[in-house]
Amino acid sequence: MIIVLRHDAEQEKKAVLKGRLKALGFDIHESRGVGSTLWGIVGDTSVIDRDYLMANEIVHDVKRVQEPYKKANRKMHPEDTVIEIAGRKIGGGHFQVIAGPCSIEAKEQMVEVSKSVKASGATFLRGGAFKPRTSPYAFQGLQNNGLKLLLNAKVATGLPVVTEIMTPEHLELFHDVDVVQVGARNMQNFQLLKALGKSDKTVLLKRGLANTLEELVMSAEYIMAGGNENVILCERGIRTFETSMRNTLDISAIPMLKSMTHLPVIIDPSHAAGIRWMVEPLAMASIAAGADGLMIEVHNDPETALCDGPQSMTPEGFDALMGKIRKTVEFFGKTMDC
Ligand code: PEP
Ligand code: MN
Repeated sequence: MIIVLRHDAEQEKKAVLKGRLKALGFDIHESRGVGSTLWGIVGDTSVIDRDYLMANEIVHDVKRVQEPYKKANRKMHPEDTVIEIAGRKIGGGHFQVIAGPCSIEAKEQMVEVSKSVKASGATFLRGGAFKPRTSPYAFQGLQNNGLKLLLNAKVATGLPVVTEIMTPEHLELFHDVDVVQVGARNMQNFQLLKALGKSDKTVLLKRGLANTLEELVMSAEYIMAGGNENVILCERGIRTFETSMRNTLDISAIPMLKSMTHLPVIIDPSHAAGIRWMVEPLAMASIAAGADGLMIEVHNDPETALCDGPQSMTPEGFDALMGKIRKTVEFFGKTMDC
């Protein structure tokens, strides 16, 4: 970290700030130029709040030379992290496909969709029981009953399951859930992230609608700082000025996140565009850009879906897509479990 001091900084005030930084365990290397003085702060500066320094009247600017994240940082962990969930690996060349409905709606729906996505080769089953909806009047999910239906489908198909958590109080209900999803709207729910940091569940962390990649990685860092290092990052489209799609898929997020961190990165092409026919090209592009997996919404009858019907694939459409996914993943040198 580099602190640029104001040219008129008084000696006494400099001594006070120097004393505070030394008390925190930092070494300070001073270099004096003609118009300004720079301090190079040596030590683990991820613990210093930049605003704490900027609030000091003798400080002109503060520049970080080290990223504020440590555990998620690729510099500290050059190899790709490979996470193993129920015997399936993700990351480091291992590719997984998570598929299922946006929301768990009924027993028959879950039985039908879970059987079909399994037959097509999906390796994880998804389905939302607690749904974060924009409108309080929209379907909020079947909640506890939905979780039960998802867990029944897990037993029936043998597929590990992924479902969204909205509050730390629900964690005990997620005992048999394999991957706990933190949705885009909760990416910076720090209480939830801290609670998940203390759990032993793999977390699928989705990027917020208007969050930077550094903010996403800092949210992963919250979970990892608590002791849980099993975090999968998910890009699901962000808000831009474009209105012809629900969101804009940030494909560049894949190589950039992979250079910033060692964590697996997956793409959700369903929420990215919100358009069924666009799931395939976005899925292909994601594999080519280096994604470690995909999460795709599939519904047995998208026209009657209670949530996200326009972007949900039919079982037949998903089956055809899986054939292409398999070939593309193989072409790019990764392995799939099916
Ligand atoms: C979902 O996966 O069902 C979901 C609500 O996604 P997101 O949080 O990305 O909107
Ligand atoms: Mn959805």
